[in-house]
Parts: sequence; C-alpha cells; structure tokens
Amino acid sequence: MSSAYLQCIEEGCQARQDPRREEYLCSVCGGLLEVRYDFRRFDPEAIRRTWHQRRLSGEPIDRSGVWRFRELIDFLEPGARIISLSEGSTPLVGTRRAGWWAGPVHLTIKHQGNNPTGSFKDLGMTACITRAASRDVQMVACASTGNTSSSMAAYASRAGMKSLLFVPYRQISAAKLAQALDFGAIVVEVGDTFDEAFRLLREIAPELDLYLVNSVNPFRIEGQKTIVAEMLEQRAWRPPDYIVVPGGNLGNASALGKGLRELKELGFIEKVPRIIVIQAQGANPFYRTLESGSSNLIPVENPHTEATAIRIGRPANWKKARRVLEWSGGLCESVTDEEIFEAKRVLAEDGVGCEPASAATVAGVRKLCRAGRIERHADVVAVLTGNQLKDTDYIMRHRSASEESRQRMQVEPNLQALRKALESLLAVTA
Ligand SMILES: *Cc1c(COP(=O)(O)O)cnc(C)c1O
Repeated sequence: MSSAYLQCIEEGCQARQDPRREEYLCSVCGGLLEVRYDFRRFDPEAIRRTWHQRRLSGEPIDRSGVWRFRELIDFLEPGARIISLSEGSTPLVGTRRAGWWAGPVHLTIKHQGNNPTGSFKDLGMTACITRAASRDVQMVACASTGNTSSSMAAYASRAGMKSLLFVPYRQISAAKLAQALDFGAIVVEVGDTFDEAFRLLREIAPELDLYLVNSVNPFRIEGQKTIVAEMLEQRAWRPPDYIVVPGGNLGNASALGKGLRELKELGFIEKVPRIIVIQAQGANPFYRTLESGSSNLIPVENPHTEATAIRIGRPANWKKARRVLEWSGGLCESVTDEEIFEAKRVLAEDGVGCEPASAATVAGVRKLCRAGRIERHADVVAVLTGNQLKDTDYIMRHRSASEESRQRMQVEPNLQALRKALESLLAVTA
C-alpha cells in the first residue's frame, strides 16, 4: 500500500485532501497541494546501493532516471502500470569556458535536454501520466509555452490517452508545436500569453472533465524532484554550493527544493545547496515580488522575452518556490535577452547547446558573481532545461541573419568567388 496523500501547502490550512477528489487545488482554501508520504524508515546506505545496482538492470522501470528512485515517489499501488520512455539519466558535463566567463566558478551542466522529448518536462510527465493512468483518465490537457505540450503528447500517446493542448497564439516555437502534432495532440491556439491560455483552460476543465497536467498538478513535481537524487548520485553525494534553474511557472524550482528537503530529512545529505532562480527581465514577476518583499504576487501583464519557455507573467507555483528559496537560502535574479544570448554563445564554445531559457541560468550566475552574491570558484550546477533543437528559429535569427555574424554566406559556384569569400570569412574568425 502506498502511504501517499495530498496536503495543502498553505500554513494556515494544511488540509489533507480526499484522495478520490481534487488533484490540483485545496478543496478548503484553494491553495496549492503537495504529495506527502509517511516514509518508511530508510537506511540511506542500503537505498543508495539499491539505486546504484538498478543502473545495471535491463528492466525498463530501472532504466528510467525517475523510477529508479521510486522509493522517493511511492504514490502508486502495487502492480500499477508505469508509463515511461526511459526519461532522465541525463549527463553532468563540466564547462570550463562558460565557468570562467560566468565567474570564475566551477560550473557543471545538468543537461535535461537529453530527455525523450528534449526537456526536463519528461521527468514530471512520466509521473503525472502514470498517476492519470492509474485513475483511468481518458483525456489529459495542459496550457503550455511549448515543452509541456511535447512531453504531454508523447506520454499520453504511450498511455493510450487523448491529449488537448492550449497554447498562446503564435507564441511557441515551431519545433515544440510540431512535436505535439506528431504525437497526435489536439492543439488549440488561444490568447496572447501563456497566462491567458492557462486561465481559460482552468475555467473550462471541470465542464469537460479534463485532467490537467500543468505543474500545478502535484504529481508533476514528484517526477521532477528526482533530478536531485540523480545529480547527487552522479556527484558521489557531494552537494554543490548552488543549483541554478530558469524560472517560468516555477514548478522546477519547487521540485528541486522538495527533492532536497526530503533527501535531507531521510539522511542522504547534510548540506543543502542554495537554489537560484533566474528569470528573463521581460517576464520576471517572481523576481519583482521577492525584491519588493510583497506577500502577494506582483504579476507581469504582458510578459516578453525571446526565451519563450519562460515567458510567463503569473507563475502558478510561486508560493512553493518562495518557500524553497527561504529554506535553502536561495537567490533570484533577472537577466536581459542580450545576456541570455551571450551565455548561450559561451556555452556553445564548450560544445554545449541548449534552448534560450536554459542559458538564462549561466547568464544569471555571471550577474550574481559580478555583484558578489556568488563567491569566486563556487561549485555551481546549472540545470539546462531544454535541447538546442527546440528553438532553431532563435539560432537562425541570431547567428546567421546578421551581416556581422560572418558565419554564413552565399557564394557563386566558381573557384574565384569561393576563394574571395573564404578569404574574408576565415580572416574574421582567425
Ligand atoms: C518549462 C520550462 C522552463 C520553466 O520551468 P518552470 O518549472 O515552469 O519554472 C524553463 N526552461 C524550459 C526549456 C522549459 O521547458
């Protein structure tokens, strides 16, 4: 029997939920919910060995970087069908140039772009769709800035469910939309912002009996939190000083914090890494809220940034994320689109590609170092949330359209023209 239950996170409420009813918001006060467990007494040493041994196993459940840590996400009844695409098990990569540029700091990348649909959303989706399957859900839905939809569509397909997607009109990258269509999702373009699409979805969901898989669904957070177990295992259980993520709807920051808190309570780690959230300057409601000390969210009405994955003005999980920053002694910073592009360019010099939102992490580390809020030579892990190929339009805009980029040229097909062109192209890069 699973010991899991859902509980409201609001301090004054903390109501336990009826497990047959609401999955997202507290039925008493409307607050966010989280999954709680009466963890059996763990022997951390023994569990660590078990997790390690599973790496040698050929069983699909053990090959998943989420379900390999299943003791931490014990919300299924025995024998439940697990919907997995072998997500997780993503690499940790040292980045010398980017680390030097950003600090100097010891910068390591945890590359979540190496997931089945190309983003960290797969970690949450395997958990959430598995949960939905255990409740015989027929149709799942989300509003999305792109990656949630690719991921939802893939896992729903695998589970034999229909998926319905709300996206802001013409605001998500073509690659992400193509993925969702390829997996058979029904796509509704509605509203000018993610926030508007999300609001409409939440209003219509009860009428249509839709199961929402946005990160307000607490089971998403359960899957996503396993990233810290995997990361710490890869580092022989030595926590870094900082873990940095980009902040959109703030599910990822919430998940990192929940994962670390539980690992600490269970005795896996002593020291807690400080969690850093980086937002884009045109879409920085969380940053503004924390800076002002306000106890209410200060939304951004018309969020704008080229990092479309984090173009969100009313992050649903802001209260969970604030709690994580308070608990871990974390930081929040905001960076411009120019700074994001610079960081992405420097990562590319280390051979590391990612989508723009992901590069915000490294831009943020640089800014915090310069301000003396991260110390020189600190041990920093940046979570790169999405794959380079998620937004090739962005790359083409920045890398090949401009004359001065000098990376691309059309040449007449004769040797003389070719020599002349190459002379000028190679001279600049020499
Ligand atoms: C979803 C997403 C984010 C934002 O994560 P939140 O959990 O919503 O804060 C950042 N980067 C990429 C690539 C994403 O897909």
